[in-house]
Amino acid sequence: MELAREFAANEIAPTAAERDRTKAPPTEEFRKLGELGFFGMLIPEQYDGLALDTLTYMMVIEELAVADASVTITVSVHNSLPTSMLLQHGSEEQKNHWLPRMARGELAAFALSEADAGSDAASLRAQAVSDGSGWILNGTKAWVSHGDCAALLVVMARTDRPEDRRGARGISAFLIPRDMPGVQIGKPEDKMGLRSSQTVSVTLRDVRLSPEHLLGQEGHGFIYALEALDHGRLGVAAQAVGIARAALECSIQYAAERKQFDTPIKDFQGIQFKLADMATRVAAARALMYEAARRKDAGMDVTELAGMAKLYGSEMAMWVTTQAVQIYGGYGYMRDYPVERLFRDAKVTEIYEGTSEIQRIVIGRGLHAQQR
Ligand SMILES: Cc1cc2nc3c(=O)[nH]c(=O)nc-3n(C[C@H](O)[C@H](O)[C@H](O)COP(=O)(O)OP(=O)(O)OC[C@H]3O[C@@H](n4cnc5c(N)ncnc54)[C@H](O)[C@@H]3O)c2cc1C
Repeated sequence: MELAREFAANEIAPTAAERDRTKAPPTEEFRKLGELGFFGMLIPEQYDGLALDTLTYMMVIEELAVADASVTITVSVHNSLPTSMLLQHGSEEQKNHWLPRMARGELAAFALSEADAGSDAASLRAQAVSDGSGWILNGTKAWVSHGDCAALLVVMARTDRPEDRRGARGISAFLIPRDMPGVQIGKPEDKMGLRSSQTVSVTLRDVRLSPEHLLGQEGHGFIYALEALDHGRLGVAAQAVGIARAALECSIQYAAERKQFDTPIKDFQGIQFKLADMATRVAAARALMYEAARRKDAGMDVTELAGMAKLYGSEMAMWVTTQAVQIYGGYGYMRDYPVERLFRDAKVTEIYEGTSEIQRIVIGRGLHAQQR
């Protein structure tokens, strides 16, 4: 944990604002994070990973997000989504091939969403057609985080036939090296926040896949993706807590320095109450994510709790960063001050890996299931 805190403060935080301005990908930071093992946090030691438990992993994500949420999204997606899918469902050959590389920092990306299939991801259209010995894949995936620099893309695509659609059961997961013929990476999106994280489309044109590319069983890919998203949502919850903590720490410092009416603004009760509410909500969101992590480490199902941790954490981060901008006054609205970036970075935590509305659906369904 100490290493994560020091690395985040010394190697990531000082250049975060500059990366936000230039949209430069954090290539050097990724290289160092790979050397230190941060891309193999959940990978067992037999595959050269650090084998951390979920709770420790989330503490690390929080520390990194305090420094730069753009860097953190790659660490979180790589560790939470492709890694957990491979660990749970990969063959021994696939694990031996990919996990040690991933632990050393060769990035893996997660390609589920499409332009017309976001919240309703099971309606995706990328199609893998069987050719007897394997499949030929065509389609376009949208908004793939770090898809431009990943060595491996975990791609969800249909393997059911158009005349025999099976909904979510017609989707399979494939392990596709980014340099395979037919894989084309689009231009990075111009985003509101997380500006140095490259979010790209991936077009798959007549990509020839063999059975070694299939992850687990045919038709189970969507279920694997949803399982992985339970873990991913904990990562987003930790990212949100980190962004909010950064906004709180900046606000405490600024409120002590900024004077109006010959008084540090921290001495105004209106500001003290804001800071007190911000600190309370950050602590509450952290406690919720810790509880979800503990239960996950105890082998319990955390679908609803992970949804709650993400829902509460992301809405908390948006609220806390809004208060931070308010405490900074006009300076909070200027690019020169950190809370403006934190406010923009917080927003996406309410959107990706399932929007707040989708989290409420997941949590609500769980409540009804408990009644039965
Ligand atoms: C920066 C960024 C990075 C991303 N990275 C990845 C990635 O690495 N891999 C990947 O696969 N995807 C990624 N995504 C995609 C992301 O997961 C989707 O944007 C998200 O799931 C929402 O889908 P959508 O954008 O199509 O919104 P839509 O599904 O079109 O939703 C639009 C609105 O309708 C609401 N809505 C939808 N359905 C319901 C309902 N049933 N009830 C109530 N409200 C509803 C939503 O909550 C939302 O407010 C990324 C997105 C962003 C912005």
